Amino acid sequence: MIWHTESHSAIAIHLKTDLQLGLSSLEASARLQAGGVNELTQEKHIGPLKIFIRQFNSVVIWVLLSATLVSSLLREYINAIAILAIVILNAIIGFMLEYRADRAITALKGMTTPQAKVIRDDHRQLIPASQIVPGDILCLESGDVVAADARLFKIASLKINEASLTGESLPVEKNIALCLKETPLADQLNMVFMGTAVVNGTGHAMVVATGMQTEMGHIATMLQKASSDETPLQKRLNQVAYRLLWACFAIILLIFGLGLWQSLPFFSLFTSAVGLAVAAIPEGLPAVVTVALAMGVQRMARRSVLVRHMSAVETLGCLQVICTDKTGTLTIGEMTARKLIAGGIIHTILGEGYDIAGNYLHDSREINANQNAVLQQVLRAAVACNEAELDEAHSSIFGDPTEIALLVAAAKAGIWKKEIEQEMPRVAELPFDSERKRMSVIRRKEDAYKLFIKGAPEAVLKRCSKILLPEGIEQISKASHIQIQQSCEWMAADGLRILAIAERLLPEGIDYSQVDDSIEVNLTLLGIVGMQDPPHPEAKRAVQQCKTAGIKAVMITGDHPATAQAIAQELGIFSPGDKIVTGSEIEKMTSKDLANIVNDITVYARVSPEHKIKIVEAWKQRETIVAMTGDGVNDAPALKAAAVGIAMGKTATDVTKEAADIIVTDNNFMSIVAGVEEGRTIYNNISKTLSYLLAGNAGELIVMFIAILVGWPLPLLVIQLLWINLITDGLPAIALATDASEPDILKRAPRPTKKPFMDKAFFQRVIFIGCLTSLVTLGTFAYYYLGYHDLTQARDSAFSVLVTAELLRAFGARSHEKTIWQVNIFSNLRLFFIVSVSFFLQVSIHHVSILQKVFGIKPVSLLECISWVVLGMIPLAIMELHKGIRNRRT
Ligand code: ATP
Repeated sequence: MIWHTESHSAIAIHLKTDLQLGLSSLEASARLQAGGVNELTQEKHIGPLKIFIRQFNSVVIWVLLSATLVSSLLREYINAIAILAIVILNAIIGFMLEYRADRAITALKGMTTPQAKVIRDDHRQLIPASQIVPGDILCLESGDVVAADARLFKIASLKINEASLTGESLPVEKNIALCLKETPLADQLNMVFMGTAVVNGTGHAMVVATGMQTEMGHIATMLQKASSDETPLQKRLNQVAYRLLWACFAIILLIFGLGLWQSLPFFSLFTSAVGLAVAAIPEGLPAVVTVALAMGVQRMARRSVLVRHMSAVETLGCLQVICTDKTGTLTIGEMTARKLIAGGIIHTILGEGYDIAGNYLHDSREINANQNAVLQQVLRAAVACNEAELDEAHSSIFGDPTEIALLVAAAKAGIWKKEIEQEMPRVAELPFDSERKRMSVIRRKEDAYKLFIKGAPEAVLKRCSKILLPEGIEQISKASHIQIQQSCEWMAADGLRILAIAERLLPEGIDYSQVDDSIEVNLTLLGIVGMQDPPHPEAKRAVQQCKTAGIKAVMITGDHPATAQAIAQELGIFSPGDKIVTGSEIEKMTSKDLANIVNDITVYARVSPEHKIKIVEAWKQRETIVAMTGDGVNDAPALKAAAVGIAMGKTATDVTKEAADIIVTDNNFMSIVAGVEEGRTIYNNISKTLSYLLAGNAGELIVMFIAILVGWPLPLLVIQLLWINLITDGLPAIALATDASEPDILKRAPRPTKKPFMDKAFFQRVIFIGCLTSLVTLGTFAYYYLGYHDLTQARDSAFSVLVTAELLRAFGARSHEKTIWQVNIFSNLRLFFIVSVSFFLQVSIHHVSILQKVFGIKPVSLLECISWVVLGMIPLAIMELHKGIRNRRT
């Protein structure tokens, strides 16, 4: 069947569906079984076996395996088996790490899967887009991404951006007329296609093709985005790891040459060089970074922040400005109508939230709203021009909070939407959008058509020519215009959101089913409503936290400047001396003008989404890292332009979510701050883990280098080096990489963007710590080797002291700045556990006879164990002392 040429009823019969009731869930699941899921490409999932095999695909492993081969050729079987065992153990740890990270990332992807609205079993429901089947009835709204190819059968001002499919960047206005057979895709106006975006209006469509059968499916290769999800940090670190690998090879070659020059036996030199390669090369570095990112991102998800692009994690740590919406983010987004000006009289509305209990007062006296003709007319219009739903039994509330507040206010006067719908059926609508700042609905009562409109006072008032007064409808005089504006000002200064309500009796004999905004003229102003949306209880604290974290919070709202100022002041965003700029003022400025004053502006009012992009650009001109929140479809470009685009999960459209780097699922400003905290923590964890790992590697290299230089035998055997690598590198590193946030992480300034990840201080620290551990190790070795001429004991003790020093050092590595006393040692129990178990293992291998042979060690006494701890404590103690002295100086 050719979908665009047939009538929708013929298509419905062909697809065995019902345009009103939709499919039954039973039928839908049968079709899903038969036709498959609605997905373009099944992402190839890497199985556990592949991850395990991948562990052997590294230079280090090949070096080690060749060492095993050489050892067995030289009949050093125990050595060969031991090396092999350690290679396998290493692979298992690597596998566990990667598998865990992989699962964490898959779980996160699942959290952001797209959803679609369909009618099934006679009611509207939200289902995962992948579950859509042919015959489903799609309900489309502005901001939705179309989930499958579908034939339209009911629309209201539906406009679709089909750029992703046809390349045409201007939105296409859809209709439901039949098309000719040869109509090209771009002109098939009665069809909608998967992956395109609804930018305006609403529509109902019947799904005709899903998954690879869709037009998108046919050109699916176009969608194979090549972008890898590696963050810039990961990319840089991979480069560093690569460079370090070659540097290590060079040093090892040098040690090897020195050893030969010192006439050390070739075989032991070879195996030690191999061991050193394994110990020194930070091959686990990329895995540790992935784990730190994946775990951190999971922690963020628990705090209502979903990360869509991993690179955002890094940018969050440098964030200097957060531009945030007001409604629902800084405020609770639950509106309550408090004031109603009608017929020149100010009424106070009592009651809280969405509870319909509450009366109308005038001059502190209760009035009977059910009998007041003027009040009834305003409230009926507010309900007639309303998309929200409020069930009489109060069991279901649905829709935009501004509109719900109006339904609640009307219910307090005995007016219900259901009755209005029956009395005056809806004919057409001009939907609300934050650019128009108003919406209209046309209804028919018998043969008459009426337009009801509500919106921001300045958007409605200029279209009014008359006003409703107790004595009847009169022309608006200049004086009453000024009076209305003044009333709006004082309500706004009280922090109330204001809305004007008007209506118009339309001329007869015209088809009103397709209208444009030229009809919104000659209106009669009925009244002005003031509604309260209290600040979110946590928002004030979050704004304060931003301040201490060196981040500027900026409010961007479509609301009236006075309303915005009142709320911003209450939250601590606006202080005397700050500037408030409106959307129309932004329009008059060049981006340079705006960049000059952007630092002084804390509130933007009456702003439309296109102004947001100008604000982002202004900050960018000042080289400032800025985050921008948004939920509407028009916010998407600003979100894309910002360093971190934040979509508000509860209200954001699919298009906005796709443009965002992170999604805040509870819309709460506090969660954005939590995201910043976690972002900083992840970066911090990666930095400290890395310096821990590299300092360990440096220590081992220095030990071997100095020993060879002064002509001593090698202080550590290859198998000992491999063991050190196994128990001191992998597990403590994981515990460090997943450390909780440092309590004062939000008291520091944002990290400068230009600061390199591994700066001079980083390398100084690595070398300093490496020298400390190598000194105690070499000292121990020298004590037994030079003092008692006992090489085995010297190696054994040096080995154990080095392991103990490395393990203890992990506690100090938890903070670059704070001493071990300032960071509660028990606040990372995982690290405590890992260090204890690793130390226990170190002692245990001394008491298993086969391992004694493998490692060249012998049983130890309690006193010896204590001596390891005491000696191992020295590098940690010096490190902490150094931190303490430095802290005291600064
Ligand atoms: P933000 O979420 O950015 O703080 P906002 O929700 O305050 O913005 P908009 O939704 O753009 O801003 O609304 C701007 C103005 O439009 C409001 O101040 C109000 O006067 C009017 N308005 C809001 N919602 C509706 C609606 N559903 N119908 C008609 N007018 C509305």
